[in-house]
Amino acid sequence: MLRPLVLLWCALPLAAQAAPAAPATAGELGAPAAVPDGAPPHLSRIDRQDLQRHVAWLAADERQGRYTGSRGQQETAAYVADCFRKLGLKPLGDKKGFLQVYPLQRTYLDPATQLAFGDQKVTAKFAVFGARDDEKLALSGRFAWCGAGGAGQVPNNLQGKLPVVVLQGATKSQGVANDLQAHRRFAEIAAELRNRGADAGVVCLLDDGSALANALNYHALQPDHPRLHFGSGRGGAAAAPVPLFVLAREPSLRLFAHLGIALDDAGGPRTGIVDEKASGKLAITVRTDAKGSASNVVAVLEGRTKKAEAVLVSAHHDHLGRRIDGDVFNGADDNGSGTAGLLEIAEAFAAGGERPERSIVFLSVSGEELGLWGAAWFGEHPTWPIERLVANLNVDMIGRAGGAGDSIELLATPSHQHARYSTLVRDAVRLGQKFGISFASGDRYYERSDQAVFARRNVPVLFLCVGDHPDYHQVTDHADKLDYGKAEAIARLAFWAAWTAAQQKGRPQELGAQPGW
Ligand SMILES: [Zn+2]
Repeated sequence: MLRPLVLLWCALPLAAQAAPAAPATAGELGAPAAVPDGAPPHLSRIDRQDLQRHVAWLAADERQGRYTGSRGQQETAAYVADCFRKLGLKPLGDKKGFLQVYPLQRTYLDPATQLAFGDQKVTAKFAVFGARDDEKLALSGRFAWCGAGGAGQVPNNLQGKLPVVVLQGATKSQGVANDLQAHRRFAEIAAELRNRGADAGVVCLLDDGSALANALNYHALQPDHPRLHFGSGRGGAAAAPVPLFVLAREPSLRLFAHLGIALDDAGGPRTGIVDEKASGKLAITVRTDAKGSASNVVAVLEGRTKKAEAVLVSAHHDHLGRRIDGDVFNGADDNGSGTAGLLEIAEAFAAGGERPERSIVFLSVSGEELGLWGAAWFGEHPTWPIERLVANLNVDMIGRAGGAGDSIELLATPSHQHARYSTLVRDAVRLGQKFGISFASGDRYYERSDQAVFARRNVPVLFLCVGDHPDYHQVTDHADKLDYGKAEAIARLAFWAAWTAAQQKGRPQELGAQPGW
């Protein structure tokens, strides 16, 4: 799920929730639940073991956090395409294949970017904050101690010096509420260094798990982690007064050793720079080109009697990549869970029994976390006519459902309070009772996942999501924290809702806001 837009960060702090009870671990999942009375037999094809198997693959460290356009994301698209192929679905991507590729501009670090001191070089586990798109900078000089980089800590004349700022003990990030503060903190340091005549700064980030480290994932360049631009927009961070070369903890400690700095009991620097003659070389080179690309995966199962119309089932498969220290944002719930659900729903439609009356289009997009890009590309370059989509069912984060015992709490949007509430949602909520699912409004997420693209084009949508949790957009969103039994029920519900929309005589109808579900 897409984090809130920058301007909303302060207005919409995310409520922290209690962590759900530890779900069953591998091997303890048990058998799939019985299919409820009256359900299409296809439902039995959606099972918790398969969901777990898919999530294990998608959220493995080898996928490197499935950052849009990265090798891990491309491998994931190939995995999804392979599943579609094995199910006998018809490809609906470019050139009669399953993949739909879209172009991206990228701003990235030249491999020559590094900090050198003594006989050492830092070429990994760092980020560059606030560099211009065409930054080219080569500095050498003595390191200058600047404490935590605040006013009064930074020496007056930093001309020709390499300022060293040390940050530690910043708050742990919960959700994304701290991102904007973190961005401001770096920007303030850059401004202070600039005011003292510096051309760049070296920042030692001693706490890799802090909100500051997480925020760099959105606001800084890292090796293998470009800043991407979609379409004509130029998103991403603006240049800071001077660029900051930010070291993760491990290279920070190597630099400390070079400077003669020991740590105190609280883990901070005991002194300033002891070896006053210590010097280094900093090189930052940034390049921008239009050679980036990323992919969606699209397939269709043709319906029996109304095959010109289709229900679109979608989920994003991209995530956030790696943190500055190399730890991976595995994105098991966001959105390994929804991708696994999409694959299981596809299997149920393709191999679970009778084909539906209408066609079913399956869309697995990338670029979601960066701004719903893959869905936007599909919306602008549809390989199935948008006006012949009768509904879009989008699943994003379905692996961490709350609710006591077997009961399941789930968010849906548009809720009954929403102007775009429809028979699609109403029917899904009614079916939810068969699985012990109770619904709350997910309207605050209406614009925050891929369904927004289709809602804007007047397609009735239904978004299913468990909502925020303490591991949302953290490196701790791991596969062993998912409740696969509940995910099985949610994926089955999603199938049944899509099936219902595909079987009904008429298209789903908008109802407008209603007093209840
Ligand atoms: Zn997300």
